[in-house]
Amino acid sequence: MNNLTYLTKIVKISGNKLVLELKEELNIKRLKTIFNGFDGERQAELFIKDPRGFTPQQRRFVFALMQDIYIYTGEPLESLKDVFYWQFRYFTGKNISLSNESESSVDEVSTLSELILDFIFENDIPFREGYEIPPQNVEYYFYKCVMTRTCCVCGKRGADIDHFNKSLGRRKRKSVDHSEYDFAALCRTHHSEKHQIGLEEFKRKHHVIGIKLNEKEIKKLRIGG
Ligand SMILES: [Zn+2]
Ligand SMILES: [Zn+2]
Repeated sequence: MNNLTYLTKIVKISGNKLVLELKEELNIKRLKTIFNGFDGERQAELFIKDPRGFTPQQRRFVFALMQDIYIYTGEPLESLKDVFYWQFRYFTGKNISLSNESESSVDEVSTLSELILDFIFENDIPFREGYEIPPQNVEYYFYKCVMTRTCCVCGKRGADIDHFNKSLGRRKRKSVDHSEYDFAALCRTHHSEKHQIGLEEFKRKHHVIGIKLNEKEIKKLRIGG
């Protein structure tokens, strides 16, 4: 398929009619040539651009993630950047850039970060303590930690799945409805720390959040099974 993209500004809306102002001229004759002589109705899809540009924190996060992949694999940052930007293009059909002149949005960079996080979790890339995780990626990060049993504080594998906000107490594990709870993946060290210093202090110190799981995910992780 040969889609064309034009940058426009919406200048007027009246009912279901829309007036757009293009930043460049649209040459109808050229369209005919491009689409092998097709002369019928021109259809277009309207895509409203996210006006919120990405944040410096998001950029720092992307580079911190890539830095960890570099330290572990030796693959230079430039080539990692190529790979992930290409992946982003493949999934979204759009280009992405983290340069100062970039017009990439909060959501686009958040998607890019998720792609890199997937790579990190799938390839057991060790990460440094204390990522500064942007709010847009917090939920996904802690979810991936639980599903891959990776300690969300230090990145150690084979972590325990802790009932995070509400502790199980003395009730029998099997008779509990686990979907009422939320979970966090913690290694032995951080799990004992949590129970030593208490939930509130632990949250203040490590900014961990608990993640809700559905029945299928609980089964997969064999929680209480
Ligand atoms: Zn840990
Ligand atoms: Zn626990």
